[in-house]
Amino acid sequence: MNILVINSGSSSLKFQIVETDQALIDVSQDKVKVKGLIDRIGTQSVAKISVTNGIEIKEAVPIRDHSAALDYIFRKITSGTLNIEGISSIADINAVGHRVVHGGEKFSNSVIVNKSVLKEIEECIDLAPLHNPANLKGIEATLSLFGEKVPHVVVFDTAFHSTIPEVNYLYALPYQYYRRYRIRKYGFHGMSHRYVSYRYRTILNLEREKLNVIVVHLGNGCSACAIKDGKSFDTSMGFTPLAGLVMGTRAGDIDASIMDFLAHKEGVSLSDIDILLNKASGLLGISGLTNDMRELLDEEKEHHDRRATLAINMFTMRIKHYIGAYLTEMGGADAILFTGGIGENSAEIRRRICDNMQFLGLEIDENLNKQKCFGAEGEISTAGSKLKAWVIPTNEELMIARDTFRCVMKVPSP
Ligand code: AMP
Repeated sequence: MNILVINSGSSSLKFQIVETDQALIDVSQDKVKVKGLIDRIGTQSVAKISVTNGIEIKEAVPIRDHSAALDYIFRKITSGTLNIEGISSIADINAVGHRVVHGGEKFSNSVIVNKSVLKEIEECIDLAPLHNPANLKGIEATLSLFGEKVPHVVVFDTAFHSTIPEVNYLYALPYQYYRRYRIRKYGFHGMSHRYVSYRYRTILNLEREKLNVIVVHLGNGCSACAIKDGKSFDTSMGFTPLAGLVMGTRAGDIDASIMDFLAHKEGVSLSDIDILLNKASGLLGISGLTNDMRELLDEEKEHHDRRATLAINMFTMRIKHYIGAYLTEMGGADAILFTGGIGENSAEIRRRICDNMQFLGLEIDENLNKQKCFGAEGEISTAGSKLKAWVIPTNEELMIARDTFRCVMKVPSP
């Protein structure tokens, strides 16, 4: 089955065509045939398409909206010049899978799109005012190109966390605000946490109920997830993706009173402070240099920049804080799984996170740690380590493709 996977942002559209017929995850049997990104939709758009056969396109083209972006992609794909195996017309696409950031409390699974699903996604706009409208634009564009002949499936970032118990998802605010506005922890990066933990359990041949791990997704956005008995039990992002770990430009956890204090001192509004916490804080805010971990590590090494080091240390210390918290919440875990751009590629950051954790039974093998970079998957702890550590490259697109296949074929999730 050829599945078009769409990840639609407010002015961007990322896509992949994945061939999958598997209900179970065995990555080697899935084929990504083509992938690409149309960026800056509505202004000076740039289109990048890369085909598995090595052909690449990079073009500056005027693209007015998401529908025009999809038209452009399929004009290129079906033009015959890209030689994509098994794809010569839009009739070769069997289903479309969409990433949707927020499913609120309504969606605990991926579902086939119909009118009532669209309405419910719209009703979650309040909870994700930037993301859900952008995701809806992508759905509208594929619906208008493919019509209803092809099934469209939505896969939610929040759905995996629907199993978090009340004791962990509620904020200690007056309860009526949960009742009235559904203010609670939702959690994000669900597809990544789900993929990585499922992949680990497949490699180790574990039953779902036997899975007790902490997944640490470290990219530009970062979150940790405690997975107990195979289910999300707690996670560091909250009502929005601002909470929890120190991220590229997001502050993560802060004392909420700082917002009002800072708004008064700076004479700005609370929404300005919200922007500051989301866009100008985190690694960027502390270092004053960059939100990019690679650049910070270079600055530290080459120029001994004090604030680059401080930003990196705050980043790793907050992760330790969450690992400690989750180990006690869960009553122990079997492994810590690293993923995301930083988690997959930086042996140095993983080393610093795991440093001084021998008392928990965690011991890193320096050589294995150095080897597991740039797409390599596997264990980085020593054979004798009681608490294991692994690197598992995430693959959210594959998760969307697999869920789309499962929804269309009515195969239960493993
Ligand atoms: P993502 O959002 O998952 O694409 O991750 C982006 C983050 O991964 C950025 O902060 C990058 O600097 C970081 N990253 C990618 N490769 C490396 C690397 N080799 N060492 C350190 N950080 C890296």
